[in-house]
Amino acid sequence: MTFKDLGLSSPLLKAIREQGYETPTPIQEKAIPIILQKKDVLAGAQTGTGKTAGFTLPLLELLSRAKHKTQQHKVKALVLTPTRELASQVEESVRLYGKHLPYKSAVIFGGVKINPQIAALRKGVDIVVATPGRLLDHIAQKTINLQSVDFLILDEADRMLDMGFVNDIKKVVAILPKERQTLLFSATYSEAIKKLSNQFLKSPTLIEVARANTSSEIVKQAVYHVDKTRKRELLTHLIQEGKWQQVLVFTRTKHGANRLSGQLEKDGITAVAIHGNKSQNARTKALADFKKGVVRVLVATDIAARGIDIDQLPHVVNFELPNVSEDYVHRIGRTGRAGNMGEAISLVCVDEDEFLVNIEKLIKKDIPKVWLKGFKPDPSIKAEPINMGGNRGARNKPRGRGRR
Ligand code: AMP
Repeated sequence: MTFKDLGLSSPLLKAIREQGYETPTPIQEKAIPIILQKKDVLAGAQTGTGKTAGFTLPLLELLSRAKHKTQQHKVKALVLTPTRELASQVEESVRLYGKHLPYKSAVIFGGVKINPQIAALRKGVDIVVATPGRLLDHIAQKTINLQSVDFLILDEADRMLDMGFVNDIKKVVAILPKERQTLLFSATYSEAIKKLSNQFLKSPTLIEVARANTSSEIVKQAVYHVDKTRKRELLTHLIQEGKWQQVLVFTRTKHGANRLSGQLEKDGITAVAIHGNKSQNARTKALADFKKGVVRVLVATDIAARGIDIDQLPHVVNFELPNVSEDYVHRIGRTGRAGNMGEAISLVCVDEDEFLVNIEKLIKKDIPKVWLKGFKPDPSIKAEPINMGGNRGARNKPRGRGRR
């Protein structure tokens, strides 16, 4: 299957070639032809599967087919995302894939000045990528007109619900034209997502790509059991001994993220924290420095890390396990992106056993449990000792929990 077979025309095929993509990913293979048939879509796709191109490419194709000559640079497509970072990245994709087409796009999110956004909107844009809160501000101030919207895309809808955006989304959708095509992407299906889908989508086609595509198959997962007080020491050891150059580390709290990045710096490892209390500029700079390799470790909370897209991110570390199991799937989806092998390591202490049990239930898989020589955990923990460099005495135990 090629991108051409999917029905995309030459300006898009050219942009795809320039990106170096050779074949469509499974979600792209499934979603693109259906979207091109103008059907509503409810897609279960995790981040890292190529879902952004999966909706951006057919969206641009449909816009170019319709030509919308009479309504040049009016907002025809609206993409809603949960976070500023994801909004920026989606809009970047729109520009990238649409570079040989005449459409203009804008990204709208809070935490930055509103005036440049107003100016951009005034000049006229075809595609808006926005987070719900700031979009509502523009709607209230009448600085955006959504009456020509033909396409609504809800990206990472489950996360938008988790973040409490449901009413904001409803307010936005209420003012959109009823005649439109709606696409909803979500990593997980819950009752709330089904409800949202029933409300906003018309007889949607369901698309699911094998979960195997991310968490289970291309991400090598391991639990390193360790005493809580020695987690930082173990992390430093893993990074230094393993010569890891680019590591995304998750902590549960903003305070924890700040503290850990400071401690890593003290250990001689360049690190920066990214979380909701940081200004947008600080977050953008931290991410850029991390991408460029100026800092080796990015310490993030779940919400801040949403939407981070770094090609071939090799290592993700859960400094603490998330108490919401779905967050584990989102976190490890940061590595092993688009077919590249990745490694996700969780540093787990005795108190986190219940979180681990729930995560394993969700991913329907036992994660290999080990401890690194020199970092012996609580004797009640059942795990295999290993040496640095992966000389693993433990094998992936088919059954059984970490702790007895
Ligand atoms: P997403 O799931 O949309 O966040 O995409 C994950 C990553 O996959 C991004 O870095 C894309 O640039 C990349 N990507 C998307 N489609 C393809 C493709 N067909 N071939 C190779 N890489 C891709």
